[in-house]
Amino acid sequence: MTSSTIFARRYDNGEAVRITIARDKITAVEPAWPDGPIAAWPYVAPGLFDLQINGYRGVWFNDPALTASKAIAAIEPYFAHGVTRLCPTLITSSHQALSTGFAAIRQACEQYPWLDHVVPGCHLEGPYLSGEDGPRGAHPKAHIRPADWDEFCDLQKTSGNRIRLVTIAPEVPHALEFIRRAVQSGVRIAIGHTAATGEQILAAVEAGATLSTHLGNGAHPIIRRHPNYIWEQLGESRLTASIITDGLHLPESVIRSIVRAKSVQQTIITCDASGWAGSPPGVYENDLGKVEVLDDGRIVVAGRQERDILAGSGAATDDCVAFAAKCGAATLREAIDMTCRNPTRFFGMPEQSLRPGHPADLFIYQPAEGGDRLHILVTMIEGTVRFGTVPSPV
Ligand SMILES: [Zn+2]
Repeated sequence: MTSSTIFARRYDNGEAVRITIARDKITAVEPAWPDGPIAAWPYVAPGLFDLQINGYRGVWFNDPALTASKAIAAIEPYFAHGVTRLCPTLITSSHQALSTGFAAIRQACEQYPWLDHVVPGCHLEGPYLSGEDGPRGAHPKAHIRPADWDEFCDLQKTSGNRIRLVTIAPEVPHALEFIRRAVQSGVRIAIGHTAATGEQILAAVEAGATLSTHLGNGAHPIIRRHPNYIWEQLGESRLTASIITDGLHLPESVIRSIVRAKSVQQTIITCDASGWAGSPPGVYENDLGKVEVLDDGRIVVAGRQERDILAGSGAATDDCVAFAAKCGAATLREAIDMTCRNPTRFFGMPEQSLRPGHPADLFIYQPAEGGDRLHILVTMIEGTVRFGTVPSPV
């Protein structure tokens, strides 16, 4: 597609606009004057950016058999959810599996420039995490290990310098030195899957950590009321928080509390979709362990009677945006900003925006009945429609 025109209401102020797109960029955003009722017009927003997605329908980005085409097959389904950028997330596994995963993603990005745009970087969640049950979440204990800068450098090289975010537990051996070196090399550091003390969290922040990965999850089911590692991160203003607002990982009151404590500007919404997302209910097993996809959509570590340890989510990013608004943590506009502007700002990238000169990365949607979800009509990436069909002017 070389040029197109979109008529829709802006997500941020409801204004009816005509957006002109030439090649990969927005060239004009002008007021439009609908003939009919404006309520019939859909909304348009900058594309969603999810910094934590593990795969789709059985394909994991750290699958030891990942190939470039499998990686693309696990990324493309997210276009139906308004996502225009995502960080493929590789979780704790063997060095070999991580290497294979990063090599496949690198190959896919080098082969397809459009994919390189969609994947601004990868997220390495682990393997330098807490080995304790609870904080460890679904990360396989056998592969949890002390922070290893040399191993990371090897993986970074394999990825073609694409690892942009590492989630680490500050209490693992060599973590602080790792954080300092990573930050110095331009990699962002998140604290997560941790049982750290307040002192250890503070030390990680002083070494350069700037994010809490899915705050409130990857924790013991029962912890001391205070102090504990959740409060310590919640009250640390140098840490932005990512949260999984799928309606299952965190109670509504906790979502509201985190957004209010951190502010809308310092909260990032992620779906943390499991590689089992998109799979029908059942028991699944791979190198990462055995999980159960339940009828209500939860994905839990199998073999526990309580079924209380979630193994990532089965929801997509747009569902999490809609739920954050529905539960009263933010307006829908704010929830969208938390999922497009905030991640780009966090990474120091130009903010996604509906302004001339910006890449035509956007999605068109109608809020569905009851606010439960967004009805995504179109997802456009660099001016190319990747999902749906651009509606003709009303
Ligand atoms: Zn996690």
